[in-house]
Amino acid sequence: HLRARDGYAPLYSDFDNFYIRRLQLRINDCFRRPVTGVPGRFITLLDRTSDDFNLSFKLTGTTTETLNMSSYNYLGFAQADGECADAAELCMRKYGISFCSSRADIGTSDLHLDVEKLVANFVGKEAATIHSMGFVTNASVFPALVGKGCLLISDQLNHASIRFGARISGSVIDMFKHNDMMDLERVLRERISQGQPRTHRPWRKILVAVEGLYSMEGTMCNLPGLVALKKKYKFALYVDEAHSIGALGPRGRGVCDYFGIDPKEIDILMGTFTKSFGANGGYICATKAIIDKIRVTNAGTIFGETPAPAVLTQIATSLKIIAGDIAPGQGEERLQRLAFNSRYLRLGLKRLGFIVYGHDDSPIIPLLLYHPAKIPAFSREMLKRKISVVVVGYPATPLISSRVRLCVSAAHTKDDLDRLLAACDQAGEVLQLKFSSGIAGGQ
Ligand code: PMP
Repeated sequence: HLRARDGYAPLYSDFDNFYIRRLQLRINDCFRRPVTGVPGRFITLLDRTSDDFNLSFKLTGTTTETLNMSSYNYLGFAQADGECADAAELCMRKYGISFCSSRADIGTSDLHLDVEKLVANFVGKEAATIHSMGFVTNASVFPALVGKGCLLISDQLNHASIRFGARISGSVIDMFKHNDMMDLERVLRERISQGQPRTHRPWRKILVAVEGLYSMEGTMCNLPGLVALKKKYKFALYVDEAHSIGALGPRGRGVCDYFGIDPKEIDILMGTFTKSFGANGGYICATKAIIDKIRVTNAGTIFGETPAPAVLTQIATSLKIIAGDIAPGQGEERLQRLAFNSRYLRLGLKRLGFIVYGHDDSPIIPLLLYHPAKIPAFSREMLKRKISVVVVGYPATPLISSRVRLCVSAAHTKDDLDRLLAACDQAGEVLQLKFSSGIAGGQ
């Protein structure tokens, strides 16, 4: 029935491939999980009657509160009370719900100016511009920076939004092995005229794009290595800090803060407000000249709606808390709690004998399940114990390295993490996930 009939195929036909039929709908429990309320320390599930493989299940009218290990709520700002929620409520009374227009039409409000100034100061750059989605930020800013005649070199594991923006930019795209500086240098040498590594003659511009913290791997980019190569080969560097801003570094200011590198060494610092700030949207921080250019040339700002007023207030308030400008001490406490929780959980899992990927300071902890059949099984073992986790498999990961992605938050207590460790221990026994009797110390 998927073949062309009367000269055309049904619109849905291309989507009915192996991945959708055999894998995604069978194993991706998360998308079909009905939830309600704030995705904070806990998340409330709406109980359902049937275990249908589509969204046509019936709700029973009851709910189950689960420990939430599935939201990127790194600093615990996903909450319906506190300074951010109070400020957002007041803002809604003054500004309403939406600007109902792009900035190119309605203009720039005082809230935009406030957030752009705050975020530029926070990451240590001259200027910033903001978008209503992180995805749109990457999708529309790459085409505003590079195009025909330019070379864009991307880490192999970069996020879909970077790949999307790169593709529609029209530049030549090459990739290097994840976090492998030798492979990046190989690509640079091959692409820049051999024997003259400092000349860019074949390319108008060369842009290297990486992420600060990779959300499927928990790995951190090798920023010192990138900066050294940048000096040698004179390319521009774009770092997507979606998962590292607010989450890494002693002051929560991302990978530059973590490695002690001056943010001015990096040309573009991009980030999202969806994770550490409990809001929505994305930003680009750079020099004033670059930001002025992006503002008038990227399609997202010109043709798309701008972040909602209350969202801007949430961003501004959370930024001020992290920086210690309001509620002194609270930001620092959140950062310390996140750092402690990340290491505590990772070490606990290693001690139990699980294989976990990533950097010791990463608040994302991928726990390897390997076999795709274990994806729904693990998620259900956790739900039985009232814990929500994200399980991921192909095509987000290679087919044989399916995994659980545990997202640690400053909102979690040590007791929460002990409860999670006990549940993982039991599920690990049931599903034969533990590969050793555990390490003595871990790193
Ligand atoms: N960049 C990276 C690295 C991401 O992981 C994501 C989404 N998780 C985005 C960009 C898109 O951000 P948003 O979800 O805020 O649209």
